[in-house]
Amino acid sequence: MPLPLSPERVVTAQHFAAQLKPGQRICITTHVNPDGDGLGSEAGLVHLLKGQGINAVVTNPTPTPDRYRFLFRDLPGVDRTQEAVKELRRADLILVLDISDVDRLGMLSQTVLERGVPVACVDHHVSQGHLPDGARFVDPEASATGELIFQLAQANDWPLTRLAARALYVAILTDTGAFRFSNTKPAVLRTAAALLETGLDPEQIYLDVYANAPEGRARLLAETLQTLVVEPEYGLAWVTVPPGAMERLGTTPDDLDGIVEVPRSISGVRMALLFREIAAGRVKVSLRSVGSVDVAAFSRPYGGGGHTKASGLSLEGSMAEAQATVLAAARQYLAENGNGEA
Ligand code: 5GP
Ligand code: MN
Repeated sequence: MPLPLSPERVVTAQHFAAQLKPGQRICITTHVNPDGDGLGSEAGLVHLLKGQGINAVVTNPTPTPDRYRFLFRDLPGVDRTQEAVKELRRADLILVLDISDVDRLGMLSQTVLERGVPVACVDHHVSQGHLPDGARFVDPEASATGELIFQLAQANDWPLTRLAARALYVAILTDTGAFRFSNTKPAVLRTAAALLETGLDPEQIYLDVYANAPEGRARLLAETLQTLVVEPEYGLAWVTVPPGAMERLGTTPDDLDGIVEVPRSISGVRMALLFREIAAGRVKVSLRSVGSVDVAAFSRPYGGGGHTKASGLSLEGSMAEAQATVLAAARQYLAENGNGEA
């Protein structure tokens, strides 16, 4: 037992697992623009369920970014994202990972709401939004959904294959910022150790996830960082994806991953923002904080959420309007929420 799980936790994990049975049509899904945690948790869970004679397919609202395709290379036919709606319409059980809010399922949210089948959920977000009823395995204290999938495996004695372990390692690696963020708790490193002990090659996983980038990703980083604005008096810094840059450089939202860490890295910054237009008249903001600033709470009035130190929101309006609104609110929030903790 690499992790000391409380007896209640083990019981919850066993109840959760008891809902998953051979012969069921199970669709596993996660949030729009899936990240390493969403996809690693999905691939890991598919491998683990296979070991139990249970087949599941993956049906996400938006395509798997190139950098995470290797997770599905050993799972032929499992990533059914292209036929997500069709698959969901035939499902007996829907398993939602890494979100608790149906809105984050994008174009699939209506189908999931209307199906009338159990919707199970494994998640580590603070904000628990609305999902149809079903089994829950949720813990906002967990570093990553991948850590919760590992707990499910441990509590149910599901054998951990090397491929399952690799997928869960990707989940934990990416959601902890490669073991740097505040969610890098002792249990995370114990879990990572147990995963590595299956014979994983951490350098190869690093290369697959972080060092296999298209040229456009580096150019997008360069162009976006050119827009940096810092307001030391507030501890505020932000960058903006230049209009049209993503299309011109042939990049996807996945290529933005990590950029907001750069404004966050500036000494004295307590809140860092990345703005981008996601559609005509709609702007998405990625938020990161340092110290005691709670960006999940800041995002809530806009219908956003996430974690204390990493959250997201989107709002209507032009870039100029969105920035005027969010930056004014951020200055006020920072002024009201103390100084000097960064
Ligand atoms: P990112 O900035 O990397 O897209 O997201 C950071 C965190 O905020 C993630 O935990 C993600 O789930 C959450 N998040 C991002 N965008 C949204 C959003 O539009 N709504 C909500 N509720 N959470 C979001
Ligand atoms: Mn996550």
